[in-house]
Amino acid sequence: MSVTITWLGHSSFALEAEGVRLLIDPYLNDNPASPIKADKAEADFILLTHGHFDHVTDAPAIAKRTGAKVLAGFEVTGWLQREGVAEDKVIPMNPGGSVRLPFGRVKFTIAHHSSSTPDGAYGGVPGGFLIELAGKRLYFAGDTALFLDMKLIGLGGLDLAVLPIGDLFTMGPEDAVEAVKFLNPKKAAPCHYNTWPPIAQDGAAWAEEVRRQTAAEAIVVEPGGSFVV
Ligand SMILES: [Zn+2]
Repeated sequence: MSVTITWLGHSSFALEAEGVRLLIDPYLNDNPASPIKADKAEADFILLTHGHFDHVTDAPAIAKRTGAKVLAGFEVTGWLQREGVAEDKVIPMNPGGSVRLPFGRVKFTIAHHSSSTPDGAYGGVPGGFLIELAGKRLYFAGDTALFLDMKLIGLGGLDLAVLPIGDLFTMGPEDAVEAVKFLNPKKAAPCHYNTWPPIAQDGAAWAEEVRRQTAAEAIVVEPGGSFVV
């Protein structure tokens, strides 16, 4: 089976496989790079890597409208409930922990970054997600610096790694190429760039470096664009 992945700009992704829809870090209404508004987003599950506004802002409204369950760090699920998301619709996690869901398994992985929620509260530790969906293993790093433990995340084999390349707030293009070497995925795609001028990057140039330096297939789409894994 295959997974269709659509980039909604910044770190927002929609995944679909076997009739299951996952939404990662929905930041749509105020995102200058998003091709859709939040009232058009559909999801059965929403995954939030950390509490920063550019990853979570539209999650409460989408969760309440769709009835989607939301997976996030423990403190971020507290914010979701303060925003009116029902307690039985959140799945609190912490790094290293995984949860089995009807479509497969999701593990919350470590990330080196910060986290606070839009109301200014402590957001717990940030993370990434290792997703098993339709027989594929997909890694979304979240906002993070490069870290050597990415070698552990890649141990079971990865069909896809999605990595930030924007620099300034996360790793930049050079470190993201090193991340591909640590993770050794079949495919690699960039995110968290070109949303605003401070994180402007050349995605095509990054992809060229990935092809030159690693065995991974680099995939770059425009916001709104999809690819299949
Ligand atoms: Zn962040």
